[in-house]
Amino acid sequence: MADTSSESYSQPQKNLFAHQFQNATAAASSSSESKRDESATTTKTPSGVVLDKDGKPCRTCTSAAAWKNLTKQAKAIPSSTPASTRQPPKECPPDVEELGRSTWTLLHSMSATYPEKANTEQQSEMRGFLKLLSKLYPCWVCADDFRTWMAEPSGKNEPKLGGRKEFGNWMCEAHNEVNRKLGKKEFDCRLWEERWRTGWKDGRCD
Ligand SMILES: Cc1cc2nc3c(=O)[nH]c(=O)nc-3n(C[C@H](O)[C@H](O)[C@H](O)COP(=O)(O)OP(=O)(O)OC[C@H]3O[C@@H](n4cnc5c(N)ncnc54)[C@H](O)[C@@H]3O)c2cc1C
Repeated sequence: MADTSSESYSQPQKNLFAHQFQNATAAASSSSESKRDESATTTKTPSGVVLDKDGKPCRTCTSAAAWKNLTKQAKAIPSSTPASTRQPPKECPPDVEELGRSTWTLLHSMSATYPEKANTEQQSEMRGFLKLLSKLYPCWVCADDFRTWMAEPSGKNEPKLGGRKEFGNWMCEAHNEVNRKLGKKEFDCRLWEERWRTGWKDGRCD
């Protein structure tokens, strides 16, 4: 069995910021690493593996590729195998990307089924859910940044919960914030309902 104990990889150094690892294999990124770095041995190794708060590798914070390097499974694949046929094994614990895709599906679907006009109780329940999600999300670096973004001092990023349209837009903006952080293309938020509620106007989802 692969050894993923904290002794088997390099320990984090002080002041390792996300931008210093732009070439590391697609690891979870975090704009607030500098803040966390002051308090604990919690950061990313040069190999792209993100560490948990106890200093052990955090699988749900790390890309599948970086994880595979860590566990040395990559070496078991014959070099004659074309890269295009090297599929990740099915039904394994999620990496940071699979976890992210599944969670966005849940979150956008929740906004798609949110009441057109939400009453006080519905708003309060959703606020509580988002607050808890931003604490309990299994990729802790993602959770930290999401929480920090929502709590921006001016209040401009607070969840907009009056009804489906504004909540759906807010969720789209929240997702775009992560897209920007990861250097991905922004999604056109005018289209969120076609993507997540009604299906595209060209009928491909009907
Ligand atoms: C709260 C949260 C925080 C995260 N933080 C990090 C992080 O710090 N570091 C990290 O590496 N990963 C993070 N992730 C995961 C990351 O956002 C992606 O899910 C992951 O990189 C896989 O990306 P993807 O390109 O497959 O598509 P995803 O970004 O997962 O998107 C899935 C689908 O949603 C649609 N979509 C894309 N953008 C939008 C939008 N703005 N509005 C509506 N629909 C949209 C597209 O159809 C897309 O195919 C986070 C995920 C969540 C839920």
